[in-house]
Amino acid sequence: MATYQIATIEGDGIGPEVTQAAMKVLTEACGSDTLSFEMRDGGAGHYVKSGEVLPEDTFVACRDMHAILHGAAGLPGIVYPDGTEVGNDLHLRLRFRLDLYANMRPVKLLRGVRSPLRDVEAGIDYVIVRENTEGLYASRGAGVLLRGEVASDTLVVTRKGTERVARFAFDLSRRRNGAPRDGKRRVTVCDKANILRTYAFFRAVCDEVATEYPDVEIDYAYADAITVHLVKKPDFYDVIVAENMFGDIISDLGAATAGGMGISPSGEIGDHQALFQGAHGSAPDIAGQNVASPLATILSGSLMLRWLSERHGDATLAGAADRIDAAVNTVLAEGIAVPRDLGGQAGCTEVADAVCRALG
Ligand code: ATP
Ligand code: MG
Repeated sequence: MATYQIATIEGDGIGPEVTQAAMKVLTEACGSDTLSFEMRDGGAGHYVKSGEVLPEDTFVACRDMHAILHGAAGLPGIVYPDGTEVGNDLHLRLRFRLDLYANMRPVKLLRGVRSPLRDVEAGIDYVIVRENTEGLYASRGAGVLLRGEVASDTLVVTRKGTERVARFAFDLSRRRNGAPRDGKRRVTVCDKANILRTYAFFRAVCDEVATEYPDVEIDYAYADAITVHLVKKPDFYDVIVAENMFGDIISDLGAATAGGMGISPSGEIGDHQALFQGAHGSAPDIAGQNVASPLATILSGSLMLRWLSERHGDATLAGAADRIDAAVNTVLAEGIAVPRDLGGQAGCTEVADAVCRALG
């Protein structure tokens, strides 16, 4: 029996093709006995067939297996009886039921990928940690509209929610930088502490957590200002921790500076489980045509291996993750198979096959 069971949900749109591509690369990198991909149903398409967006057996697999690999979920025009969109509800339900509170979005410009920014010789290589369970999005579905005149939502910041995501960010900075190197072990807190009490509290709790990490520098940036800095001096950043909505916004900005959504991975991590998927959605406009880039999902698979490696003290998985990252680098830097969203011609399967070959 394989050592690690991966609850795998292909989902909607390009989900199945990018998931298949990532499974192929992961199997090639780890050997056929290491990972067992346990396929489970879920998503908007499955809702149409069965009336369930997250079947209970899918949830149980996601809760109890070693990790979750997800393609993408959501299809336009599919609604619940009350008229609300099904969208990526599958993913949101897993996020809340499994309490996946730290949404990790690495932003790294790989060789061979053109950034829309001109002056990036110093490189782009930082990670955004988005608080994933509260903030302004905690109000989702609970906002109020008064007499068709005034609408309001509630922004929630708790001590517990902030402490745990801040610790995740500081720990991540330590893991990324073996030894403190010229001030680069740094966590930047992204907020609007100058305007709202909630964000001032978020910052104050991050400050308290920072005292447990004297080796990591703490830095602050207002959410508006950081959009300028991420364009003008992206090389300054190491780890950025942000409230849910700000993290959502700056993650898209970061992705755009490093090749776009098709190459941007993500991991959503809790204390007991983690889910890995590309940062993009289900892109129904290009589904089923073998033109989607599988790189975001492949690199998410590599994040999954690193998470499993730490959790289970299994260094071979981190080694496999290194080989996947190196192979993706080679494929792009040498122009072996460049997907369309990065200006090439290669289809989803060609990119995955090239990455497998480059694993050596
Ligand atoms: P969501 O609401 O789930 O975030 P979205 O509406 O923001 O989804 P995405 O599905 O992320 O949209 O994609 C936006 C567009 O980017 C797609 O329509 C598609 O053209 C392009 N795109 C997204 N992912 C990829 C990919 N992996 N490869 C190539 N192009 C992609
Ligand atoms: Mg989006």
